[in-house]
Amino acid sequence: MRKGFLKIDAHVHSSGISKCSHVTVEQLSDDKMREGYDGMILVNHCQPWYYAPEEQNDFMRLVVKEYERAKKYGDNVGFRAFFGLEVTIEQPYNDWLLYCVNEKFLLSAPCLYKLRQKELFDLCEDNGIVLVQAHPFRNSGWGEPEYMRGVEINCTPPDYARAEETACIAQKRGLLLTCGTDYHGDARPTNGGIYLPENITSGEEVARYLLSAKNTELFLGEKDFTAPGYRPVKTE
Ligand SMILES: [Zn+2]
Ligand SMILES: [Zn+2]
Repeated sequence: MRKGFLKIDAHVHSSGISKCSHVTVEQLSDDKMREGYDGMILVNHCQPWYYAPEEQNDFMRLVVKEYERAKKYGDNVGFRAFFGLEVTIEQPYNDWLLYCVNEKFLLSAPCLYKLRQKELFDLCEDNGIVLVQAHPFRNSGWGEPEYMRGVEINCTPPDYARAEETACIAQKRGLLLTCGTDYHGDARPTNGGIYLPENITSGEEVARYLLSAKNTELFLGEKDFTAPGYRPVKTE
């Protein structure tokens, strides 16, 4: 544990939105607290088979409601819930984490799953959102490095076993590293996550921290994983 930092699981799903999750936001928060986390970034799915493009607004309202429920519960029990999203795009087929989003962005955004990587990246950049590729060893593989800010060490196979390799590639490409468990309420032997400064209370602050951090500090299982020399791309 690092003094002055929070242990955050930056990749979790709740059943109110993510059809593959078995836990409500309350159960999810309880599970994570029991495992010693101080908070989470809720990244529910936004996938092409969840809704038709013209239903984007209705769907996003539900996404916002689900997050508000998590935040309310978290505030009551002393667990920090931040608001992210995991967007699955089809061309090429890959998953992208958005750190962090808010109601205003989601309700004015175009249909997110229809965007190409560069379009999603440009939209995120314009809105102060950090675009991070989820589990790069799943799906179509690594995306174009110039159109992402970071990449995730995901605590599920096969990505977890390739954490060091992920860190090396991230370093070479100037990408931030983040870490999350992809928890869906199932039994998972491996914990992991990112340390965020304890004074961070909003999604905007999470994004600002990620964009200004020279490197991110992660933990995998019981051990700290300090990624050597990561710098965010395109710092001013
Ligand atoms: Zn899922
Ligand atoms: Zn996920």
